[in-house]
Amino acid sequence: MSTIRYKSVMQARSQKAIPFKDDEKKSTYFGSNVFNTSAMRQFLPSEGFQAVEEAISKGSKIDRKIADSTAAAMKQWAISKNATHYTHWFQPLTGTTAEKHDAFFDLTLDGLAIEQFDGGQLVQQEPDASSFPHGGIRNTFEARGYTAWDPTSPAFILGSTLCIPTVFVSYTGEALDNKTPLLRALNTLDEAATQVALYFDKSVKKVTATLGWEQEYFLLDASLAASRPDISQTGRALLGHASAKGQQLDDHYFGSIPSRVFQFMRELEYESIRLGIPVKTRHNEVAPNQFELAPVFEEANLAVDHNSLLMDIMEKVAEKHHLKVLFHEKPFAGVNGSGKHNNWSLATDTGTNLLSPGSTPTKNLQFLTFFVNTIKAVHDHEELLRASVASAGNDYRLGSSEAPPSIISIFIGKQLTQVLDELEKVTTGKLSPQEKTDLKLNVVGKIPEILQDNTDRNRTSPFAFTGNKFEFRAVGSTANCAKPMTVLNTIVANQLIQFKNEVDKLIDKKGLKKDEAIFNTLREYIKASKKIRFEGDGYSEAWIREAAKRKLSNNRTTLDAIKIQIDPKTIKLYEKMGVMNATEINARQEIELEEYVKRVQIESRVLGDIARNHVIPTAIRYQNILIKNVKGLQDIYGKEFKPLAAEQMKLIESISNHLSAINSDITAMIETRKEANQLDLNNRAKLYTHKVKPYFETLRYHCDKLELLVEDKLWPLTKSRELLFFR
Ligand code: ADP
Ligand code: MG
Repeated sequence: MSTIRYKSVMQARSQKAIPFKDDEKKSTYFGSNVFNTSAMRQFLPSEGFQAVEEAISKGSKIDRKIADSTAAAMKQWAISKNATHYTHWFQPLTGTTAEKHDAFFDLTLDGLAIEQFDGGQLVQQEPDASSFPHGGIRNTFEARGYTAWDPTSPAFILGSTLCIPTVFVSYTGEALDNKTPLLRALNTLDEAATQVALYFDKSVKKVTATLGWEQEYFLLDASLAASRPDISQTGRALLGHASAKGQQLDDHYFGSIPSRVFQFMRELEYESIRLGIPVKTRHNEVAPNQFELAPVFEEANLAVDHNSLLMDIMEKVAEKHHLKVLFHEKPFAGVNGSGKHNNWSLATDTGTNLLSPGSTPTKNLQFLTFFVNTIKAVHDHEELLRASVASAGNDYRLGSSEAPPSIISIFIGKQLTQVLDELEKVTTGKLSPQEKTDLKLNVVGKIPEILQDNTDRNRTSPFAFTGNKFEFRAVGSTANCAKPMTVLNTIVANQLIQFKNEVDKLIDKKGLKKDEAIFNTLREYIKASKKIRFEGDGYSEAWIREAAKRKLSNNRTTLDAIKIQIDPKTIKLYEKMGVMNATEINARQEIELEEYVKRVQIESRVLGDIARNHVIPTAIRYQNILIKNVKGLQDIYGKEFKPLAAEQMKLIESISNHLSAINSDITAMIETRKEANQLDLNNRAKLYTHKVKPYFETLRYHCDKLELLVEDKLWPLTKSRELLFFR
């Protein structure tokens, strides 16, 4: 092992687990760092408390007086918890979170120090936002943006800072963040879904989308990770031969958690619980050193914030334990990548899960209504849903026979397939009394509350119904869930509005009874959306061919996948639903494409550097050893040396061949980059996708071959077997 590798491996091995104590019952400190209902009740006057509660549940406005008293209460609460600063906490389009800390402390005109934080500072701030991505929005008119309080996501304390969740918009009102369109989508969905839910229950006033994410990640020893320039710069191993033992024995999945990792998890859970993130499950994942964390589901906007916050604190807690978290979708070749399943459902304010089969035929008709409408929405907008999870990192994961393919399809299981098959046969127009009874008793009435398929689900499906929710599995592990959630909730809202119109028309114009109208409409949707349903193996080649026949999209690259986002159809949909306007959509497209190009560009640079600065010199050093050996044999044996040096000569040649392939590829890759960088964004993205990226594979191939040839002691880069099995 090379000295540098040896040092970091020994250091990694000598790291002791840092014990973390969390004996208290979780319920005693859940949300203790959150300005939640109980903190508000304690610190706010009752008038203010009611106003804020109403703003949360009904979206009503908060006036300046209430804002002032809320700010005062928040400040008092935060200071009682030793906070000294406050910040507006938001999610710019970089996909991460942003904060700018201000002290509560301020000076009065006559130089006296006071604790200062009022309604104005709570409600609105003007961060110097010029360095956040804006896709040209702010260039056109105003360079400034502002953040505005989102009372539906409670403030929390991180370290010694009070963090106030906010939206981030331009002076002209355009969204510059991930939260704003999500809130708009959730609002539209609430209106649309409530109208439909009223068919079944007159007391429903509000429908919320629920989200339960499952976060996958890798953990590496921090010093081992730091020894790899590619991992520190790009979050993934751009080269490195797969280790002999990988995930083939399946001994990591649900195995015992290594003690260092376990202590990290305990502290992470402790911090999460204090911040009100209801984390619940933790376990090993399939790949070595891969893990998963999942909370109890929550209202979608809050769940999105909690996921972003969790990713933040994961990095901080990992640092304390001398660990490094990798969120990348495909950090290592040859072992599984990471995703972030988005479990999604709809809940009424009366406590019903609209995607859960019930105990009565009416409840089941309600379930089927929301179930079929979701399928229809996904069918009509599968390409947009695919676009919502596109990223440079996820391009390496989707469709590589371990993760859902880049084709969107829906798995519903055998039982529900049978139910939909029956519903497809429903008579057009009025139903006979016999048929009505039949449907009630034998079709709708027979859906069990707990579906068998729930336990036997198809893991290869990107969008699966799992008993009482849909699980969108194509989301990447680095993603901000706001994007897929905005798309899903928008298309379902749009679909539910359409459904309501069609059902009402059948009632008003054709004189059908409500149930008849619903059955008639569902029948048509089931027929029209059949091609999106697929129960087979989503990882198979056969499915790719079958999906092409069905004319389902299969956009394998970000470049192709995101085109649909600026399609006139998409713009019309977003504008109609009040989620985004054309300016916002176009700006986002530019930002996404730019980010994609930059990521590929960075990977290309880092790979070129490592291959030239680390791999080539090391291979030459080893080749020189071989040459010296051959020359020595010649010195000793004279003319007879050849048979004795034959294998060494083969190694020398082999090294030369790999070296020359690497060096010429790097030169060509750099030339292509130069050419690409002269072009406009679209053409640049094309060149990076089709001309630059292919070098990654050939370069990696030759570098990894050299890793297997060159003496271990000389190899400077920490190997996969060391990175992934540190314990
Ligand atoms: P698996 O890994 O088998 O998919 P998990 O138990 O890890 O199962 O994940 C289930 C996820 O589904 C959890 O994150 C949970 O919060 C979420 N979930 C359960 N019910 C709902 C619901 N009604 N709406 C949204 N998410 C839900
Ligand atoms: Mg899951």
